[in-house]
Amino acid sequence: MLTNYIEIDIDKIIANIEKIHNINKDVDICAVVKANAYGLGAVPIAKHIEKYVSYFAVARFEEARSLRYSGVKKPILVLGYVSPQDVKKCLDLEIEISIYDLSLAKEINRNLDEIINCHLAIDTGHSRIGFRSHELDKIRELKNLKNLHIKGIFSHFSTADEEDLTFTKDQEKIFSNVITDLYGDFDFDLVHIDNSAGFIRLRSNYDMARIGICMYGLYPSDYMRERKDIDLDPCFKFKSIVSHVKEIDEGTSVSYGRSFVADKKMKIATIPVGYADGYFRAFSNLGEVLIKGSHARVVGRVCMDQIMVDVSNIDVNIGDEVIFYDDIYREANKIATIPYELMTALDMRIPRLYIKNNKVVEVDDYLGEIYED
Ligand SMILES: *Cc1c(COP(=O)(O)O)cnc(C)c1O
Repeated sequence: MLTNYIEIDIDKIIANIEKIHNINKDVDICAVVKANAYGLGAVPIAKHIEKYVSYFAVARFEEARSLRYSGVKKPILVLGYVSPQDVKKCLDLEIEISIYDLSLAKEINRNLDEIINCHLAIDTGHSRIGFRSHELDKIRELKNLKNLHIKGIFSHFSTADEEDLTFTKDQEKIFSNVITDLYGDFDFDLVHIDNSAGFIRLRSNYDMARIGICMYGLYPSDYMRERKDIDLDPCFKFKSIVSHVKEIDEGTSVSYGRSFVADKKMKIATIPVGYADGYFRAFSNLGEVLIKGSHARVVGRVCMDQIMVDVSNIDVNIGDEVIFYDDIYREANKIATIPYELMTALDMRIPRLYIKNNKVVEVDDYLGEIYED
């Protein structure tokens, strides 16, 4: 029996993809499955959604390689840095790369003896990676690098999830000007700038949209969640059980550092989830979990493998189900982070269960998989 687990409903991911795609059917969907599909499992998810999307995007070469080795056939783009040595392996595995710096591009070109598909990254204001709009001469020099085929051009938004879209529209303008300026120099097959927020807010008409968070059923920001331009269904549930219940007297302290001392008689439940599972220590005395439909607050510090919660007003027993992140936006706000970080922090010690048609179709449990049951 599994104590802690994450259920990932593939049907919900597919339904979210279809809703997003319905915004504009002419735009291809690139499923962003970086960081192990935001912690939910890139390989199982990619395999199940492959026929509903046109492209996959990841952050690292190793992520792309693991998708290819597991049988993913659709194009895969690495959005970040790939070392010139690894670019050779990208060629063999038909993995596409991002090009954003002339000297790095030259080194990549020198290292290759065949042509690789590349996407030109343009920095339109995110200031992360990309050629800037005043570097057109450098971009044009890429035409001399015979082993690089510039298949696409892309950029990335910084604030498309915020109410004020002024900066987003400025970024889009810079991007379209760069494309216009490069007209005749390159023949881009794929032009893409939208992330989830950009695509939903601007309903734009580029060749492709790179969709991450919304595919998993979460909104990119509180603002977008309130606006609800699209109705998304969260695809995962993080569950555990109550492992111990006890009454404590007034004056009893709970957990390391004694940061919590009961000011009255209380009932405390222990749950076998801790910061080693990716449940941040910052949730000490702050986090809330759901038990039998009621909220139970974390009391005392989050330990490595366990937490204690206040169940004074809940009728609980050992073995009762505990739901984490019943409202992941509220929980993220409490510790000044975002759902993206809570998701990607979930440790691989927690088994992942993949559900289709309400049945478990796959389990990813690295501690359990070598045993019979
Ligand atoms: C992560 C990422 C995305 C996806 O962003 P979401 O907000 O999850 O949709 C798209 N493009 C790039 C370059 C990214 O790094």
